[in-house]
Amino acid sequence: MKKLKIGILGATGMVGQNYIKLLQNHPWFEIIDVAASPRSAGKRFKEAVKTKWQMAIPIPEVIENLIVRDVQDFDSISSNLDFVFSAINMPTKDQIKEVEFEYAQRGIPVVSNNSAHRWTPDVPMIIPEINHNHIEIIPLQQKNRGFSKGFVLVKPNCSLQSYLTPIYALEREGYKIDKLIITTLQAVSGAGYPGVAFLDIVDNIVPYIRGEEEKTEKEPLKILGKIGEKGIINDDSIQISSTCTRVPVSDGHTACVNLKFKDKKPIKDEIIKIWKEFKSIPQELGLPFAPKQPILYLEHIDRPQPKKDRDNDKGMAITVGRLREDNIFDFKFVALSHNTIRGAAGGAILNAELLVVKGFIK
Ligand code: NAP
Repeated sequence: MKKLKIGILGATGMVGQNYIKLLQNHPWFEIIDVAASPRSAGKRFKEAVKTKWQMAIPIPEVIENLIVRDVQDFDSISSNLDFVFSAINMPTKDQIKEVEFEYAQRGIPVVSNNSAHRWTPDVPMIIPEINHNHIEIIPLQQKNRGFSKGFVLVKPNCSLQSYLTPIYALEREGYKIDKLIITTLQAVSGAGYPGVAFLDIVDNIVPYIRGEEEKTEKEPLKILGKIGEKGIINDDSIQISSTCTRVPVSDGHTACVNLKFKDKKPIKDEIIKIWKEFKSIPQELGLPFAPKQPILYLEHIDRPQPKKDRDNDKGMAITVGRLREDNIFDFKFVALSHNTIRGAAGGAILNAELLVVKGFIK
């Protein structure tokens, strides 16, 4: 297959750099364009990124001399570009919305990490193992907005990636969830670069991340929602309450989850069996970035741990452990996902692969 030519909007940032690392040798995609703020525009990538390069590999040779484009210099978009990944930070969400729709208007599909369009009803927000069918609203978005072949698809926030797939796996087997209480312990890389100041996080926990609890509580409802005439109709059957904290971990978001079922309640062994056997469309289609087993359950009493488990299956697997009965709800468990891979660049790459196989990116 001839490789699709792609661009990274926000290539110099934390998530942008992860795209560059993860897409080396990707069988379907090849980076031909890097774009960032006007501060970086016009410079060679290696000069724009300088000491901000955080990956444990050197900048790939094919990337280091690419000239960085200004994200908003729309006239300089290459006509060869097949689609872009978006990981830009801008002063306001409205600016990001405008930029992403402008690319879509110009015929370029956008797979985005940003939260700006997550609540736009005709923009699908997808975890491919859960709501892959929501890509079917793309034609509605194109009709609503007069896009020919462009569109915007978003992936959800990194804080919910660890627990939502295990929860969905139980729902899919008919065990409906009533209530969830979630406490996250989120890595520093989730704050971008330079992120949280060293003196704020070393020997410390910061019990507040702006906007994160709202995202953790509300985004699952869109992901678990249904396709309606005007877009996605949110699920209203689960109640979620969350506390989100920042901890001195480099990569890997952990979530401690207490859950209550509605009526039918499985036994512990049944839950573990459901998680271990869970597979979905990305695995059936053999997508290159799909983890073989999306949910890994570890029996060890002290796992999962970020340092030991975040890289499971290229950082794309969710690692779960410590399932036990709860004194107040039904069960509790601990879940972990790699925030800049499964929760950001890797999750978006998996979405793009799904879009290619389903014919939305040609
Ligand atoms: P980051 O490290 O701060 O990088 C931001 C990127 O946006 C850089 O390439 C920067 O370019 C560019 N940028 C800044 N201001 C701009 C402007 N006015 N116009 C155009 N480009 C501009 O942030 P990040 O952590 O990579 O996050 C990027 C996005 O992904 C955010 O929306 C974030 O919420 C989301 N996200 C992050 C994570 C994570 O784990 N880090 C996970 C999921 C989602 P310059 O280098 O030129 O300034």
